[in-house]
This record gives sequence, C-alpha cells and structure tokens, in this order.
Amino acid sequence: MKRGRLFVISGPSGVGKSTILKELLQRQKDIYFSVSATTRKPRPGEIDSVHYHFRTPEEFRRLIEEEALLEWAEYVGNYYGTPVKYVDEAIKKGQNVILDIEVQGARSVVQKRPDAVRIFIAPPSWKELERRLTERGTDDAKTVKGRLARAREEFERASDYDYMVINDEVGHAVSELEAIMIAEHCRPAEKMASIGHAKKTKKQAKRQNG
Ligand code: ADP
Ligand code: 5GP
Repeated sequence: MKRGRLFVISGPSGVGKSTILKELLQRQKDIYFSVSATTRKPRPGEIDSVHYHFRTPEEFRRLIEEEALLEWAEYVGNYYGTPVKYVDEAIKKGQNVILDIEVQGARSVVQKRPDAVRIFIAPPSWKELERRLTERGTDDAKTVKGRLARAREEFERASDYDYMVINDEVGHAVSELEAIMIAEHCRPAEKMASIGHAKKTKKQAKRQNG
C-alpha cells in the first residue's frame, strides 16, 4: 500500500495559500487537508470544522494540556494548532496530508516528524502581496500591517524549506505543488518498498546471514 506523506505548506498571509490549496484539493480528491484549531474569529464565509475549528482561548489551552496538538503557535494575536489525531489516521490510511501552517509550527513538525516535506509559497513581489492582502478585505489596517511585518520575518526562514513555489498564477502554482508531491513519492526507499525490496535493518541482515 502507498505510504501517506506529510506536506507542510507555509508562506506569508495573503500570498494565496488557501486559494491554491482549494484548487489542489479539487484536482486531487484523496489528499487529507488538516483543519487547524484557532482562537481567531471566523471571517465571513468561514465554517466551523471546515476552515478551522474555532475555539475560545480557554478551549485552546485545554487542547495543549491534553497533548491533542501536533504543534501550535501564536500568530499576530491569535493561537493556531494542528490536531494530531486526524493527521495520524490519514497517514496510516496511505493518504497524503497537507498542513497550512506558519514557520514556527513548521519547524516543530519537522522536529517531531523528520520525513515531513516543507514547501514555502512566495508572492511574485512584495507589492503584489500587499495588494492581495489589502484587497482580500478581511483584515483591518492594523492587522494588515502586523501580517506584513510577520511576512518579512517568515521570508527569512524560506531557505530552510525543501521547496519553494511562487504563486504568480494559481494553476501554475498548483501544478508545481503536484509535481513536488509526485517527486517525493519517487524517493528510492519508497519505490524499493513498493516492489518488495525494503531496506533491511542491521538486525534483519544479521539474522539472515547467520
Ligand atoms: P492566504 O491563504 O495565503 O492568506 P488567500 O488564499 O486568502 O491567501 O489569498 C489572498 C488573496 O489573494 C485573495 O483575495 C485571493 O483571491 C488572491 N489570490 C490568490 N492567489 C492569487 C493569484 N495567483 N493571483 C492573484 N490573486 C490571487
Ligand atoms: P489565517 O488567520 O490567515 O487563516 O492564518 C494565519 C497564519 O496561521 C497562516 O500563516 C497559516 O498558515 C497559519 N496557521 C493556520 N493554521 C495553523 C496551525 O495549525 N498551526 C500553525 N503553527 N499555524 C497555522
């Protein structure tokens, strides 16, 4: 059976992560998109348990205490975290899992799950990022400013990532994401296992060779 892989997507607010992931999920029905918990208020059109699990700060604290989160971070005045249970279930079922999380959380995930693949989504220019963030119209001027400041910090971490996709045109960015996911399933370890040539552990080799 195909092994599920964990793909971590980060990038500045307003770069178009939700937009390209929506298109990717339409193209690839079998991907599991991890729905995060957050203390942020829903934006118009956002549905509880579909876009986020919207939680009070008290409820969020409880999730941390119960160790229900794979990672969590504070982002421009709110908390965000990844429920671990569904991620593990999907991977076990052989599904590719996508997390849309900021850079601190991405770093925590890679510490816990070293085979996670990190992809950074970048804007074609800062001017365009500012335009997208402002024209989305979901945040007040102070929040937009905070998100742009955070975007500059995040960009400093982009070179830690395994891949970078520039969201110039949605269809093109989604095709690059698909290409990365295909390539990651072409690693020798996975291909060898799929044809029954799993790498032997030292213990297995010793047992076989006497
Ligand atoms: P994020 O999830 O990264 O915060 P969104 O997906 O909400 O960003 O996108 C922010 C805004 O930019 C939205 O209004 C969206 O329609 C627009 N947008 C996304 N991708 C593109 C693109 N390739 N070209 C032009 N506008 C885009
Ligand atoms: P937004 O408020 O625009 O939906 O998200 C703000 C930022 O929080 C984005 O960079 C997004 O990737 C990040 N984010 C969303 N969910 C999580 C999560 O579960 N954990 C972490 N660490 N960041 C998240």
